[in-house]
Amino acid sequence: MRTLEQLLEIDRQSIWHPYSAMSSDVPVYPVVSAEGVRLKLADGRELIDGMSSWWCAIHGYSHPQMNAALEQQLKNMAHVMFGGLTHLPAVELTEHLLTLVPEPLDAIFYSDSGSVSVEVALKMAIQYWHAKEEPGRKQFISLRAAYHGDTFGAMSVCDPVTGLHTLFNELLPKQLFIEQPLCRFGESCSKKDIAPLEQALSRHGDHIAAVIMEPIVQGAGGMWFYSADYLKQARALCDHYGVLLILDEIATGFGRTGRLFACEHAGVSPDIMCIGKAMTGGYLSLAATLTTKEIHTTIDNGEPGVFMHGPTFMANPLACVAALTSIRLLLDSPWQENISRIQRQLQQGLAACRELSNVNDVRVLGATGVVELTEPVDMKSIVPRFVDAGVWVRPFGKLVYLMPPYIINDEDLHKLTGTITSVLSQVIN
Ligand code: PMP
Repeated sequence: MRTLEQLLEIDRQSIWHPYSAMSSDVPVYPVVSAEGVRLKLADGRELIDGMSSWWCAIHGYSHPQMNAALEQQLKNMAHVMFGGLTHLPAVELTEHLLTLVPEPLDAIFYSDSGSVSVEVALKMAIQYWHAKEEPGRKQFISLRAAYHGDTFGAMSVCDPVTGLHTLFNELLPKQLFIEQPLCRFGESCSKKDIAPLEQALSRHGDHIAAVIMEPIVQGAGGMWFYSADYLKQARALCDHYGVLLILDEIATGFGRTGRLFACEHAGVSPDIMCIGKAMTGGYLSLAATLTTKEIHTTIDNGEPGVFMHGPTFMANPLACVAALTSIRLLLDSPWQENISRIQRQLQQGLAACRELSNVNDVRVLGATGVVELTEPVDMKSIVPRFVDAGVWVRPFGKLVYLMPPYIINDEDLHKLTGTITSVLSQVIN
C-alpha cells in the first residue's frame, strides 16, 4: 500500500490541475468522499463546501435520488454512440428542457463540456449566416471581462487580457470587444452604458454573426452582476441590426441567480443558448446548445445540409439521466425560497467584509456572494487558512466568492461567511 504522501508526490510530479503549474507549491488536497455539503479529506477532516465544485453540485454530493437513478441507468447502459442511435434519457431530457427554456428555443445539440457548447454556438451562428447567403457575417461581438471557455473559439470571445490573446495571437479569430456594462444589477442602464454596443453594431453590424454574452453574471472573468436593463436593450439592438444573440447560461442556468435562467431577469430570449455545469447537479459532464426553429431549419436547408459537429460522447445516457433527475429534484424543491434565503444570509454574513481595508466591493446575487479585494490573493497562504478553518473556498485573482450547494443550511452558510470575514481580516497587510 502506498502512503498518502507517495500518492501526492505522483500528483505533484505528473498531473496538471486547472490553471496551474505542474511544479506548483500551492497545495492540492486529497478528497476521499463527499456527502451533502461536506467534502471529506484523506486525513479525516471535513470541509463545508462553498464552491459546489465550480458551481455544479447544486444538490450537494452523493444525493440518494441521483445515486439511485444513475445506478438504474448503469444496468441499462453507460454509453452508446449517438450517431444513428437514440435513447430514452436523451429524448426525455430534451422534452423536459424544452418546456423550461425561454421560447422560441426548440432544438438542442448535446456536447460534453461548456467550452464545447460555446464552440457549437459559434459554429451554429456561422452556418446559419452561410445558409442565409450572408457568409460575410463571421465575426462576434463580446464583452470585456467575458469568460466563455478554454477552447480556441471560446477563448476568442473571452476577455483578451485574461484570455491571454497575445500568447495565442496568430491563432485566435479576431473578435470585436466592447466595454463591459458597468451598470449594476438592480440599476437601470443609461444611454452611455449601452453606447459601446450600439456603436459597434452600427459600424460593423453587417459583418457580425452574433453578439455573445453571459446574461446578468459575468462569471470567471470577474464575478460581476450587471443590469437586466442592459441585457434587454442588447436584445433590442441585436433585433434592430439583424444580428443573433448568443447567451451563455453555463454558470447562471438552473437557478443560481434566483431565476431558472438568468435571461428571465430581463424577460428576453436568445437565438442560441448554452447550458452546462449545474445541469447534471455536478455528477457528470454534460452541456448543450439550444436554438430556434428558424436557425436549425435554415442550417438544414443550406450547404452542406448538416450541422457540422458530433462529439463522441454526445448525449451520454448516464449524463442525460443525471440531468433529468437533477432538474426534477430542483423543480420539486422550494428552490426559489432557498435561493432567497441563501441570498439574504450571504448579504448579512458578508456585510462585515465591507469594513475591511483590503476589500473593494461586496456583492450578492441569488446564491452567489462575492468579496472583491483591492489586491489579488496569495493562493498559497489563503487556501490553507480556509481548509484549517474547515471550509472549502477557492478564490481567484482579487475575488473571494461563495457559490454553495442550494441545500446548505443556515448554520453551515454562517460558518462559510464567518470564515471568509475572519480570514480576510487576518490577511490585511
Ligand atoms: N461559459 C461560462 C459562463 C463558464 O462559467 C464556463 C466555466 N467556468 C464555461 C463557459 C466553460 O465551461 P467548461 O469548463 O465546462 O468547458
